[in-house]
Amino acid sequence: MIAKLVTAALAAMLLGAAAPQATTANPPSPADWTQPTAPFKIAGNVYYVGTKGLASYLIATPKGLILIDATMEANVPAIEANIKALGFKLSDVKILLNNHAHFDHAGGLAMMKRDTGAKLYAMAGDVWALENGKHDSDQNYSGSFTPVKVDRALKDGDNVMLGGVTLTAIATPGHTKGCTTWVMPMAGGHVAVFPGSLTVAGSKLVGNKRYPTIVADFRASFARMATIKGDLILPPHPGLADVLTRTDKDRYAPGLLPKLTADALAAFETEWRRQSAIAS
Ligand SMILES: [Zn+2]
Repeated sequence: MIAKLVTAALAAMLLGAAAPQATTANPPSPADWTQPTAPFKIAGNVYYVGTKGLASYLIATPKGLILIDATMEANVPAIEANIKALGFKLSDVKILLNNHAHFDHAGGLAMMKRDTGAKLYAMAGDVWALENGKHDSDQNYSGSFTPVKVDRALKDGDNVMLGGVTLTAIATPGHTKGCTTWVMPMAGGHVAVFPGSLTVAGSKLVGNKRYPTIVADFRASFARMATIKGDLILPPHPGLADVLTRTDKDRYAPGLLPKLTADALAAFETEWRRQSAIAS
């Protein structure tokens, strides 16, 4: 925690910003979230540059790099070292994308944006949370992180294009208002899917004043996710799809996304019944 506060204070000094954001309101992080791990090529033009427990995905194109998620601010130096270890320059990163505006996936975006000069594109529903560094939903904890300016607000179905690569932004809200599933066709007929988180994760499902449509949004997102086809599944928490332990033999898993979606739906309905029973 002290190291984190020092990092935040240092970042504020370097940015010339006002008081650093309070980090004490965030829940304790599992140890592997901040454990560095060596970068590696996942498949084709997609690389893993995150930590052991939080994913950061790098997509290489002839016109520069796209980075999905910067995880927590404390991880940014490790992610930057990973990008450089792969032979890229930080200034090659042209576009930053985000799975969703929670401290564990968006907390490092401000620092990463400053260090790379990249533009941040984000789903419209998450712009407020990103630009205010606050979770925009009633939860059993109040997440906070360093705010970051969004350069382009996206809507469902928008394409992000760079150097012949196209990522389509699919709105899968619920976990946050702008939670996004990124879909990217790859060579050989493969399709990479970076699925938006579908866990309840401490969100209030009954009487959520900051996010009144949360339950309807979650249900629509489960239905939507079930229609998405892809065989390279790359979630923001890599353990969910064994991203770090798969080999080239089992890298592609066409049945995985439907399974993850069904599991998340079952967990959601259980939590919905639990919260509804308490509320009634
Ligand atoms: Zn989250």
